[in-house]
Amino acid sequence: MIRFENVTKRYRGTSKPALSGVDFEVQRGEFVFLVGASGSGKSSCLRLILREDVPTSGRIAVLGRDLRSLANRKVPYFRRHIGSVFQDFRLLPSKTVYQNVAFTLQVTGSSRGFIQQAVPEALALVGLDGKQKRMPHELSGGEQQRVAIARALVNRPQVLLADEPTGNLDPATSVDIMQLLARINAGGTTVLMATHEAGFVDQMQRRVIELRDGEMVRDEVHGGYGDTSNIPRLVPEEVRGAAAAAALTAVQEVQRQTADLSVVRAALAEELHAQRVAAASADDAPIDATASATTVEPPETTRPQETGTASIVEPPAVVEPPAVVEPPAAEPPAVVEPPGVVRPRTHPITLPTVDVAELGVADRLGLSDEDDEEVGPTS
Ligand code: ADP
Ligand code: MG
Repeated sequence: MIRFENVTKRYRGTSKPALSGVDFEVQRGEFVFLVGASGSGKSSCLRLILREDVPTSGRIAVLGRDLRSLANRKVPYFRRHIGSVFQDFRLLPSKTVYQNVAFTLQVTGSSRGFIQQAVPEALALVGLDGKQKRMPHELSGGEQQRVAIARALVNRPQVLLADEPTGNLDPATSVDIMQLLARINAGGTTVLMATHEAGFVDQMQRRVIELRDGEMVRDEVHGGYGDTSNIPRLVPEEVRGAAAAAALTAVQEVQRQTADLSVVRAALAEELHAQRVAAASADDAPIDATASATTVEPPETTRPQETGTASIVEPPAVVEPPAVVEPPAAEPPAVVEPPGVVRPRTHPITLPTVDVAELGVADRLGLSDEDDEEVGPTS
C-alpha cells in the first residue's frame, strides 16, 4: 500500500540528507507509528507519500502507483485517496465545523446530496454531531482535531497520514484522539502516524518504524517507543515572549497532570514548534485544506478482524468509547534500549471497536469492500 525503496531525500542547500536509504512497506489495514527525534525525517516521509515533495533517489509507490510516473496533473486526484491530519489542525478559522468538513467536497465538485449525507456522517464518526454550527475558536483543541480528522475522512481515503496529531493536545485529550485513530484503523483505514508520544507507542504495541538522522534504525511489528533520550528537553531559558510563556504555562499544567517528563519535554518542544509553524503557515492553511481533499471510491477490503488488533480491542461501543486509559506515564523517560527490544506492555490502552457499518457510514468513509484502481474524480 505504501512502499519506500532505498529512498534518499536531500534538501537543497543542506549537507546531510534528511532521509537516507529508507526501505519499508506498509500493508493495507496496518497501523504504523513513525517515531524518532525532532529532525529525524518523519515529516519528510509523510510529505513524500503525499507527493508534496519528491525523493532525490529511490522509489516510492503508494496505492499501487509509482509516484515517479505520476503526472503532476494527476497529483490532486491521487491525494484524494489519502487523508492527512497535522499537529496544528489547519482548520479554516472563518468557517463553521460543517463548512470546514464540507469545503473540500465543494471544491472538488461533489454533489450537494453527497455533501449533505457525508458531512454529518463524518462528524458523527468523530463524535461531533451537534457541533456542526460551531466556529473553530469555539471548540477545544481535541474537538478541533476531531474536525480535522472528519475532514480527512469525509472522502473515504484508504490511507490516513497523521503528523504528530496529538502534539498540541493535553494527555487526556490525546488519549481520546488515539482511540479515535485506532477505531478508524479498526474500520479498515491504513494509518501512518508520526509521533513523539512514547507513552502511546509503548501502550499500543503496534508496528513501529524508527528513524534516526534520516536512517531507518528499526522496524518492529509490535514495538514500543524505544530510546527516549533524544526527546527534546525542557529548556526554560530559551523561552522568549508572551506566547512562549503561555506555552510554558501550558506545559507546566501538563506536568502537574503527569509524572512523565518525556511527555512534558515533547509537549513543550511541540508547542514552540507549533507556534512557529502557525506563524509561518497561517496564510496557506486553506490551500493545505484543499490539497488534502478526497473524492474516491471505497477502498480495498480490510475488515476489523483482519487487522491484528485482537489483544486490545473490546466489544463494540457506540461513538464515544470510555477513556479507560492510563496517562502516558508508565515508563521512566531515561531508559535506553537497543533497537529491536520489545518492552513489556504495562498499561494496555483499551480500544473499543465500533462496527462502522452499523453506524451507516461504511460506504461514505471508504470502509466497505469495493476497490478502486483508478486515480481520478469519481463524484
Ligand atoms: P521530523 O519530522 O522528524 O522532525 P523533518 O522531516 O521535518 O523531521 O526534517 C528532517 C531534516 O530535514 C531536518 O534536518 C530538517 O531540518 C530538514 N528539512 C526538513 N524540511 C526541509 C526543507 N524544506 N528544506 C531544508 N531542510 C529541511
Ligand atoms: Mg515533523
